[in-house]
Amino acid sequence: MAPGDPILGLTEAYLADPRLQKVNLGVGIYVDEQGQIPLLRAVREVEQALAAQAKPRGYLPIDGLPAYDTLTQHLLFGEDSPLLEAGRVATAQTIGGSGALRVGADLLKKVLPNARIAISSPSWENHRVVFGNAGFEVVDYRYYDAATHGLDFAGMLEDLGKLEPGTVVLLHACCHNPTGVDLDAQQWQQVVELIKARDLLPFVDIAYQGFDEGIDADATAIRLFAASGIEAFLIASSYSKSFSLYGERVGALSIVGADREEAARLRAKIKQTIRANYSSPSTHGGALVAGVLGSPELRAMWEAELAGMRERIHAMRAGLVEKLAAHGAPQFAFIQQQAGMFSYSGLSRAQVDRLREEYGIYALGTGRICVAALNRSNLDYVAEAVAAVSR
Ligand code: PMP
Repeated sequence: MAPGDPILGLTEAYLADPRLQKVNLGVGIYVDEQGQIPLLRAVREVEQALAAQAKPRGYLPIDGLPAYDTLTQHLLFGEDSPLLEAGRVATAQTIGGSGALRVGADLLKKVLPNARIAISSPSWENHRVVFGNAGFEVVDYRYYDAATHGLDFAGMLEDLGKLEPGTVVLLHACCHNPTGVDLDAQQWQQVVELIKARDLLPFVDIAYQGFDEGIDADATAIRLFAASGIEAFLIASSYSKSFSLYGERVGALSIVGADREEAARLRAKIKQTIRANYSSPSTHGGALVAGVLGSPELRAMWEAELAGMRERIHAMRAGLVEKLAAHGAPQFAFIQQQAGMFSYSGLSRAQVDRLREEYGIYALGTGRICVAALNRSNLDYVAEAVAAVSR
């Protein structure tokens, strides 16, 4: 037997819990004030239009819907990107952000068979698994500082500085999963310079664009790499969260090359890798995203809905910190500094166990909580329970 997924296992236990008052903070999805996965209005509009003139389903090209790929590039690099103007980016629609990571990993393994990859400590667990299964040796760089609940920036720079030239470095562009701890623009600039000086190969994972500060601000890392003069880097992006389209599996792999010719070769390599994996992506999700991003009105509607999700997350962070303080636990103020859906709460495994057993509140053993699972109905209950187990 292969071991079960710990996060999905937690949700099973939550669903089986007969208590009326229970809260699942273990989830990895955005849910709204009613605890539901939202269906965005902009998405629904495109879906209705598609259904009204339903078309036969042929195969998409190996690298997906051309409009999807172009619109994705603009979202990642900005509307006036010199890199895009120079034709230096090859982008392919993939099966979610996970598919982008795996296609990127397989491609890199072919091109750089001896390279290692460095991931943050901690990182999304699937990073280790995906790159490990692609044949990479995975090493860690310091990232989270448990003492401050913030970034161990000095440790990060020191570890990155020791990597051999050519090492792939996986970086979370924003809303770091699982900690919620991000770099600011100045810190990014330092990391970009170090990576350039050490000749490392950046692989940026952006799964939460628009969930912290906004579409452009959350892409700061990408914009700085683009401006740095670094000739090559990769990006795995996902619309699962930003469009609330989890099951549609909408993501993209973008690879920057030195010039237009190299980008053409990279595109051919990406297509070769996809062909050997799953041949081509699926039609529906890509059509939804391209339909929204390609229409000025629907795009504005989507941006407003995305802002609504991000503002609700901010409000829940602020509300949790305030209520924790009111219940006698002011030491959690750092939760408001963290970004995105997740927070490393600092709760120990024993405290997490007590939350589950005594209060029906489910969190990961690492103390990761999903802030988006909070709402005005459960906030006080959660704050009271967390304060109680922290005494
Ligand atoms: N990267 C990170 C950091 C993530 O948190 C996730 C989703 N949990 C992904 C990539 C993959 O997203 P997708 O569901 O689009 O495959």
